[in-house]
Amino acid sequence: MKTIATIVGARPQFIKVAPVSKALAATGLVREVLIHTGQHHDADMSDIFFEELGIAAPDHHLDVHGGGHGAMTGAMMQKLEPVLQELRPDRVLVYGDTNSTLAGALVAAKLHIPVAHVEAGLRSFNRAMPEEINRIVADQLSDILFASTRAAVENLRGEGVAAERVFPVGDVMYDAAMQFAAIAAQRGELLSRLGVEPNRYVLATIHRAENTDDPARLANIVSALETVAATLPVVLPLHPRTQTRMKAAGLAFEKVQTVPPVGYLDMVALESQAALIATDSGGVQKEAFFYHVPCVTLRDETEWVELIELGWNRLVSPARGDVAQIIRAALGTRGVDAQPYGNGKAAETIAEILTRSTARAEPA
Ligand code: UDP
Repeated sequence: MKTIATIVGARPQFIKVAPVSKALAATGLVREVLIHTGQHHDADMSDIFFEELGIAAPDHHLDVHGGGHGAMTGAMMQKLEPVLQELRPDRVLVYGDTNSTLAGALVAAKLHIPVAHVEAGLRSFNRAMPEEINRIVADQLSDILFASTRAAVENLRGEGVAAERVFPVGDVMYDAAMQFAAIAAQRGELLSRLGVEPNRYVLATIHRAENTDDPARLANIVSALETVAATLPVVLPLHPRTQTRMKAAGLAFEKVQTVPPVGYLDMVALESQAALIATDSGGVQKEAFFYHVPCVTLRDETEWVELIELGWNRLVSPARGDVAQIIRAALGTRGVDAQPYGNGKAAETIAEILTRSTARAEPA
């Protein structure tokens, strides 16, 4: 049986891998070996996702976390290389745009192992973002590029990627939403525990380096969310990086209700019942749309351009002085109904393409 080595390491990747691993296992045609780099390693940033989403325990754990981008990526590569040399998988599968994606794609390519990239072709066209560098390199090194959206396909075409390498399959986060939303809907007690009512609070998340590592932008976001919280409760699951950077910058929330990072099911429960979501997360922008909640994205650009076009999302630069007013103005708005992320079967299509292409690699 052929072997696919899947490399993940950060929270959004655990959510993406869940439906794909399940679909790969259902084919009965390939063996998947799961390698966790350790990029996110806490119980609330990692373990809870494996438990809640039914992901098999990783076969290998590289235990790499912290440090700058170079140190982290380098340490991952150093630890990953002997694992892949020993395993000799027929293919490596990477997800999204983190340092784990970059390390996985680089090590595999140098060992001449074909790479497939899930969530290929997304671009912010802002190379100051570490994620943008990771995506561009991962796409260049992959021979199978799974694109979530039409915009991603166009971006790859614009970069001259051969059309036969690009597979428009839909978005695996939509698959995850379809599979887990009903379970999450049973989590009614969470809102009463937080003292908020359905459709009467704003859910916020902040973690992008461009916001957390720029004290002026971070201060502006904190002040805007505090202003909103004066009239409408704001719940914010606090990312560890944001917590560290706020402390260093001498910033603190008073009215905004922060909670430690929550598991996926609690997050879906919070998202689906919010009056509005304010975020700089990629995944959370999409999830707002899945649950028909208006979204304000606290960034200068987004990779999920279709949500802006459909009117479900709007971009607000955290450098602006009127962020709170824009959040208030977006309350109660709706966009156009559409289905830009496929039909909830992206993972099955990915599994089918992977098993077919891996079988083809069989020596004659
Ligand atoms: N998420 C979660 N708990 C939280 C915050 C986010 O489960 O406290 C989930 C969220 O529902 C989404 C994913 O994490 O599925 C998004 O990850 P993140 O915002 O860390 O990364 P990005 O999508 O920006 O790469």
